[in-house]
Amino acid sequence: MARTSLKDRIKQGLLLLDGAMGTQLLTSGIEVGKCNDYLNIESPDIVSDIHRAYLQAGSVAVLTNTFGANKFALARHGLAEEVERINTAGAKIARQAAGKEKYILGDIGPSGDFLKPLGDLEPKDLKDAFIQQAKALLAGGVDGFIIETMTALDEAAIAIEAVKSVSGDLPVFASFAFDRSGGDYRTMMGVDVESAVSKAISLGVDAVGFNCGSAMLDEYVELAEKFVSAAKASDKDTLVLAEPNAGKPELVDGKAVYKVSPEDFASAAEKIHLLGVNIIGGCCGTTPKHIEAIAQKLRR
Ligand SMILES: [Zn+2]
Repeated sequence: MARTSLKDRIKQGLLLLDGAMGTQLLTSGIEVGKCNDYLNIESPDIVSDIHRAYLQAGSVAVLTNTFGANKFALARHGLAEEVERINTAGAKIARQAAGKEKYILGDIGPSGDFLKPLGDLEPKDLKDAFIQQAKALLAGGVDGFIIETMTALDEAAIAIEAVKSVSGDLPVFASFAFDRSGGDYRTMMGVDVESAVSKAISLGVDAVGFNCGSAMLDEYVELAEKFVSAAKASDKDTLVLAEPNAGKPELVDGKAVYKVSPEDFASAAEKIHLLGVNIIGGCCGTTPKHIEAIAQKLRR
């Protein structure tokens, strides 16, 4: 019997995602600066254990460990030739952990570079790189895609177009990293909520939202409110997704530390959910305990 497709599942109410991968890898002893994505080849068990911990905590969908597995980001580790292998392996690891009941989202992060004239990237090369990554994730069996931690609108748009050109019927989510600056929320590249939401929706995403960034918990709640009203204004039934960090990182001994407790995180997640956000997870600093706390609070 075929299970509900992710596209149908997201219409049925809360979809609990996972928490952070990167900060959990650091906790497992992986050094800062290492290529996390290459662990899919080198140490698949470490990645698999993190997926399993989130699934056990209550995640209904987990993100593949492929955030930096586009050609440009991998090139910084001398791994530009390994795009296919790393992404397909990442999807297979997640698939194996999630089984047939739960879902896996192919995770696509930014290139880490800028498009011309700000940087060196040509739009066509960037699009090709995202297509290459998305195809390799598809080959590994993903149920959908999440393009996340985007800060530049032009790069996000290219990523969405690229993924949608190969995703067929699978859902595509797009998520931006916002900071509070002055009285307003903007990405590092100056994009405001309305522009991010309207662009993503015009390109046909199934969900648009925010992740990461450096906001306090209350600010993420406020951000959720802005996203929900911007999405409503679009006249389509695009969903909103939220993956806040465990608060604003504090620097302790040169390391970023996230101090928000699972209970406080779950309270913020509940407020965000009550505003109308149905796809919720956590970004940097969140752990299986944070996800478990949300599951207990919201899944009745
Ligand atoms: Zn993050």
